[in-house]
Amino acid sequence: MNRLVLKPGREKSLKRRHPWIFSGAVAKGTGEPKAGETVEIHSTNGEFLAVAAYSPQSQIVARVWDWQKREIDAAFFHKRIEQAVALRAQLLPDNEAVRLVHAESDGLPGIVIDRYGEIIVLQLSSAGAMRWRDAIADAIEAVVKPQTIFERSDAEVLALEGLAASVGQLRGAPPPMHMQVHEVDVTFEVDVAHGHKSGFYLDQRDNRLRLRALAKDKEVLDCFSYTGGFTVNALAGSAAQVTAIESSALALEMLKRNVELNKLPQPECIEGDVFQELRKLRDQARSFDLIVLDPPKFAPTAHHAEKAARAYKDINLLAFKLLRPGGLLITFSCSGGVSRELFQKIVAGAALDAGVEAQIVAHLSAGADHPIALNFPEGEYLKGLVLRVR
Ligand code: SAH
Repeated sequence: MNRLVLKPGREKSLKRRHPWIFSGAVAKGTGEPKAGETVEIHSTNGEFLAVAAYSPQSQIVARVWDWQKREIDAAFFHKRIEQAVALRAQLLPDNEAVRLVHAESDGLPGIVIDRYGEIIVLQLSSAGAMRWRDAIADAIEAVVKPQTIFERSDAEVLALEGLAASVGQLRGAPPPMHMQVHEVDVTFEVDVAHGHKSGFYLDQRDNRLRLRALAKDKEVLDCFSYTGGFTVNALAGSAAQVTAIESSALALEMLKRNVELNKLPQPECIEGDVFQELRKLRDQARSFDLIVLDPPKFAPTAHHAEKAARAYKDINLLAFKLLRPGGLLITFSCSGGVSRELFQKIVAGAALDAGVEAQIVAHLSAGADHPIALNFPEGEYLKGLVLRVR
């Protein structure tokens, strides 16, 4: 089999079972592996370390499939997908909308599988994952038996991998345009073909419920609202008033439909840039009891951390200024390049500059369908804080 031989000492992270091999760690290759093919990883001393998928165009030149010497074949994907689905059946048995496979953290680098009832959305983001598309789709059909498998391999990271986007029907009937998904006792319309990610932010499920429990009689500001995940839950939790800010007109249209679908009162909707709109609200001397900040990924990699830090600080500072005494800020970062520790530091700096004293009352993360493998701390991309200002 084709091999990648590592430079001296570069086997250490693999021995801790970290599943990424960076191009700078490789001394030489043997054979002529093509993109996505399986390669064996060996140390300088010739010790076998792992079998991995080769991504010649990526800085992460190989991603580990397994730590045993073995064939990677259709049966491998069947078994791994079966294990991942079993975890969700055990921990989130009653959820219609759930992430079934969370990439590296489920031993399947580059593979994300989301379920919306009978519809499966598959997102592939590495050469290895794309090479096995058919085997993965077969395994999903066998394990999950869905009506539809729709591919949404169009994430921004594909460019870094030298891969072309691939979107469309893989198996079964086309997904319905206006599909409804139930989450606990609220309903959302999800557009799996055009929406963000696979159509909905499944990772915020627990945090939406957390907000709902805090919202009663409160004036709530939902920044970066998308299709209203937090807004609908604030209204369902009997918020006195909700204001949503979002730059996408299409997302706001869907937010309004989602509010209507749940027979809740319409919120105040502001179509605009959160950075500017928060300043306008400040200039109008508006204030709120509860503010949610759920921005997009400002730092996809650690490379962008500095610029991202300024953006996080700016919005958190403005939010602190808009909070009434005793008010709550629920603030998130979904940037892989910003650690939980760094995020907390940025928020602390924002509070200081805003001249408020705040306490952390809870740490938030994604739900159990986004597990974090202990050997892959990068899996913890979503981190949030609930803060109370004095
Ligand atoms: N809170 C949402 C998910 C938010 S995703 C949920 O739980 O479903 C981030 C959203 O921010 C996207 O909808 C994107 O369109 C929007 N967005 C990105 N940059 C923005 C900006 N500068 N101002 C306002 N909205 C922005």
